[in-house]
Amino acid sequence: MQNYSIRKRILVTGGAGFLGSHLCERLLKEVQDILCVDNFFTGTKDNIIHLTDNNHFEILRHDITFPLYVEVDEIYNLACPASPIHYQHDPVQTTKTSVHGAINMLGLAKRINAKIMQASTSEVYGDPHIHPQIESYWGNVNPIGSRACYDEGKRCAETLFFDYRRQHNLNIKVARIFNTYGSRMHPNDGRVVSNFIVQALQNQPITVYGDGSQTRSFCYVDDLIDGFIRLMDTANEFTGPVNLGNPDEFTILELAKKVIAMTNSSSQIIFKPLPGDDPKQRRPDISLAKQELNWTVKVKLEQGLEKTIAYFSSIIKK
Ligand code: NAD
Ligand code: UDP
Repeated sequence: MQNYSIRKRILVTGGAGFLGSHLCERLLKEVQDILCVDNFFTGTKDNIIHLTDNNHFEILRHDITFPLYVEVDEIYNLACPASPIHYQHDPVQTTKTSVHGAINMLGLAKRINAKIMQASTSEVYGDPHIHPQIESYWGNVNPIGSRACYDEGKRCAETLFFDYRRQHNLNIKVARIFNTYGSRMHPNDGRVVSNFIVQALQNQPITVYGDGSQTRSFCYVDDLIDGFIRLMDTANEFTGPVNLGNPDEFTILELAKKVIAMTNSSSQIIFKPLPGDDPKQRRPDISLAKQELNWTVKVKLEQGLEKTIAYFSSIIKK
């Protein structure tokens, strides 16, 4: 249906989650009309409650594994639990959310001729043999392991996006997101940055899995959201997949020590078994994002951690 408003109508699935809530907030500042769709599996109304006074923000409780009929100009498809604890809680539902969810959102985009962006992941590279990871690398994923519901679900979603492009000429954008952190991460979702900060603030043991020599590259949420918007604004010819992440790489042990120092915590580091199929290293090559989106990261790990520590201090009881 024709959009008679000067505002773009934008659907954000998973809009009540960590990244989705930041995206909704940012899009509202850009004077857009936002429809936030979420089934509140891992997201919460608390993440978006501050936006609800704005008449241009609307919330719909809906599970994207079921069809959705709305009229919008752009779709950001973020709905999917992202932390290993949450996505392994109901692995069949995780695959359904990625695959059926993608089919439903692509079907919607096709019917209304909307532009659609998929929140894909560095997990499509699995335990990578190429380092840093470039978009042309096909990955090393165990198709039957405990992470497969997420990794293979996201890989299949990418396949669907590109087949809808080839078959139906859809305007698609695929972002491969590397570990991102910031305010509104769920304090109990088990991801490393939130775990370490919460543990440190409570002077509880810091749980390093394995020997802590595995690496990750941590992107601050504001940088990532900037990348999403730039990607959505690219010309029809540019589809991605494009890596979005911070190329500064740290071992998990380095992160633990940094968090302890920055929180003045008396926590001790303890070592626990490494979960199955835990990737040994991960760092994005962001040359493509620099070239095509004129995007790079601005926030260093220490600066981002400072803000994230302040956030968790405000929400947890010591
Ligand atoms: P999150 O768990 O905080 O948010 C996901 C949101 O999706 C939640 O609000 C949840 O309730 C909702 N949701 C889940 N299943 C749904 C369904 N079937 N229907 C409707 N809503 C549903 O996670 P996040 O960190 O904000 O991640 C958002 C997206 O970005 C996910 O697709 C994730 O795979 C991707 N991603 C995130 C990271 C990261 O580091 N945060 C890294 C790579 C990819
Ligand atoms: N990790 C850890 N302690 C924790 C939580 C996670 O050592 O309390 C490790 C985990 O094994 C992995 C890394 O930190 O090697 C990042 O984990 P996260 O779940 O945040 O993301 P992902 O593994 O999906 O990159």
